[in-house]
Amino acid sequence: MSEQRGAELDTDQLAAKIHVVAKGDLSKVGYTKDEARSAVAEGLHSQREGVLQLPSQEDGINMTRVHAYRERIGIPRKELRILSPDDYAKALEVVGLKRGTEGGKYLPQQDIIIIKRDPESEELNGGPEFVEGLAIHEIAHSGNERSVVVAVKPTRRLLRKSEIEIASTIGRSGFVTTKEGEAEPTGSFLEEGYAELERGRYVVEELGKPDGFGGQFLPDRASPFDQYSQRVRNNEGKVVVSLLEGAPAAAVFELIAKHDPEFVSTLRESRHSVQGLREVARRLNAVSPSLYMELRRINVKTEESYREGIQVFKKVKNILEARATSEAPKSEPPKGE
Ligand SMILES: [Zn+2]
Repeated sequence: MSEQRGAELDTDQLAAKIHVVAKGDLSKVGYTKDEARSAVAEGLHSQREGVLQLPSQEDGINMTRVHAYRERIGIPRKELRILSPDDYAKALEVVGLKRGTEGGKYLPQQDIIIIKRDPESEELNGGPEFVEGLAIHEIAHSGNERSVVVAVKPTRRLLRKSEIEIASTIGRSGFVTTKEGEAEPTGSFLEEGYAELERGRYVVEELGKPDGFGGQFLPDRASPFDQYSQRVRNNEGKVVVSLLEGAPAAAVFELIAKHDPEFVSTLRESRHSVQGLREVARRLNAVSPSLYMELRRINVKTEESYREGIQVFKKVKNILEARATSEAPKSEPPKGE
C-alpha cells in the first residue's frame, strides 16, 4: 500500500470539475444542468472508488523517490495505483476503457493514475526501477490543473460511461484539446513529449541511467533518444530496443532546453497556468516561426508521427546549430571601416 494517500475527492469536488455541455435540450428530458452534472459526478465517483479498491503492488518500488521528484517538478499528489496486469485490466473495465498495450494511464475524469506492473517488462528492463519511470510519465500527465470537460447527452436513464463524452471546444488536458466533431484530439505529440521528458530526466538524474533501460537506440554515439529507450518483446517474440511514443518530442524539448535554459521550467509552469502555455508556444516559435503549430498537429497515435517526430528533431537541431554558429563570438572585425 502507498504510505500516504492522495487528497480525497468527493462527489461534489468531482462535480465542480465538470462543465456540462449538453447536446440537445436537457430540460426536455427533465434534467437541469446541475442534475446532469451530479449524475455524471456520481458515476465518475463510483468508478473512482472501484479502481481505488484495487491493491497497489509497490514492493521493491521506491515510491519515496518517485514522490520526491513529483514534488520537485511541482505536481500535486494524486491517487496512484500500481496494479498487477489482471487488476490493471479490471481498472480499465471499471472506467469503461478498452485494453491497450500501454504501461499506465492517467484517468482525468476520475483523477487517478494507474500503472501496469508487468513482470515480463520489468524483467526485460532490469527490475522495479522501470516501473518508477512509468509512474513518473503518468504523474507528469496528471499534473494538469485545468478542468475536465464532459458533455452530457440528455437521457433519463442512469448515466453510464457510454453516455459521457469528453467533448467540446473548450476541452483541454495539458497540451491536448478535443474539439467536437474531430475524431482525434490535437496536441498529443506535445503532451506525450512533456510526460516523456520528465520520465527521461528521472531515468538519468534519479536512476543514473543515461542510456535508458534499453541502451543505445540509434547507432550513433550519445544518441539523443537513448535515455528514453526500453526493451520490449516484438510480435516475433524477439527482444528489441524501443521508444515510447513521446520520445521524439521529448528529445526536441531537451534540444531546445540546451539553448533556452528556462524552457523546462516554462513547460512545468504550463501545467498550472494559461500564461505558461502561451509562453511555451512563444518559445517554440522563437526557434522557428510556426513550430508550435507544427508540433501541435502531430498526433502520436499514428505510425508516421514517429518518423515525423524524428524529422522535426533533425530540423530543430539544424536551426539551433546554425544559430549557435552565427552567434558564436567572431574574431575582431577589421578596424577603420
Ligand atoms: Zn503518455
